[in-house]
Amino acid sequence: MKVARFYAPGDVRIEEAPEPAPGPGEVKIRVRACSTCGTDLKIYRHGHYRISPPRVMGHEIAGEISELGEGTEGWAAGDRVQVIAAIPDGTCADCRRGAMTVCQNQESMGYQYDGGFAEHMIVPAKVLAVDGLNRIPEGLSFAEASVAEPLACVLNGQELARVGPGDDVVVVGSGPIGCLHVRLARSRGAGRVFLVELNRERLERAAAIVHPDEAVSADDGDVAEQILKLTDGRGADVVITAAASGAAQEQAFKYVARQGRISLFGGLPQDAPTITLNSNVVHYSELTVVGANGSSPAHNARALALIASGAVPVVDLITHRLPLDGVLDALEIVSRGEGIKVTIEP
Ligand SMILES: [Zn+2]
Repeated sequence: MKVARFYAPGDVRIEEAPEPAPGPGEVKIRVRACSTCGTDLKIYRHGHYRISPPRVMGHEIAGEISELGEGTEGWAAGDRVQVIAAIPDGTCADCRRGAMTVCQNQESMGYQYDGGFAEHMIVPAKVLAVDGLNRIPEGLSFAEASVAEPLACVLNGQELARVGPGDDVVVVGSGPIGCLHVRLARSRGAGRVFLVELNRERLERAAAIVHPDEAVSADDGDVAEQILKLTDGRGADVVITAAASGAAQEQAFKYVARQGRISLFGGLPQDAPTITLNSNVVHYSELTVVGANGSSPAHNARALALIASGAVPVVDLITHRLPLDGVLDALEIVSRGEGIKVTIEP
């Protein structure tokens, strides 16, 4: 079978590999869709300390079961499934209190286990043990189902930031994650949703698809001033920074409303993780600042249901579909910011 394997930064090879066989507790799937994300690009360029190469990449995975390992119950060949990316151990103190996103023993598809940029893939027993394999509802395509994983992360972020009815929400960053944040905020009953982006071309492309109430470009002047103007000086109830930008994080404190919530959704580069914060703004305005670290198996199941019910449509976010041979082209498209979601169909 054909796979896309990471060897070292800048060295990802499309090559032949033997088809894997499922061991006890494992399931083999024929991968039908595996979407790319910013993390894949980061891995391609810089590697990742948690990856043990050579490793088949890809972690936004959907496919159909082709073979069952010993002791796997409740599944059958032909079942259409979506696979979680982050695999909690399910047994540590954090997992037992339901905080699976911060499990310190977490492993990931495409990091410690071969991922979905392949024709066939093994779903590890550890995924099945934490209910990380989800049935794709009828009528939903594999490509749409593959977007459940990033949407699950977005859902975790909005639950932590308590996005709810009537909230004015600012999303900073108009990449695929930003677009999903806009869509999800709508489905949670947000009042108005504003999309902020530095690059005007990228902003307009995203805005044409997800239709924020206002598309705010930094080219049109100070972002904080623009948001304050749009909210009659009150500021936004929720600000979500879906961009790896310390400046965007610092700026959020200038236009968040009193008692507002700021989600530092996108992480900062390892070598520049520090921002400057006037803690009195947090104190006097009673702000809540939250993070977000991936998603739990339960978030994946709920995200898949949100897509299937039409509450969060994603089909129009899939702007590119490429075969497995096109993985490097797909990463180039992601790198140039030309598409929203770029999906590999092996
Ligand atoms: Zn755990």
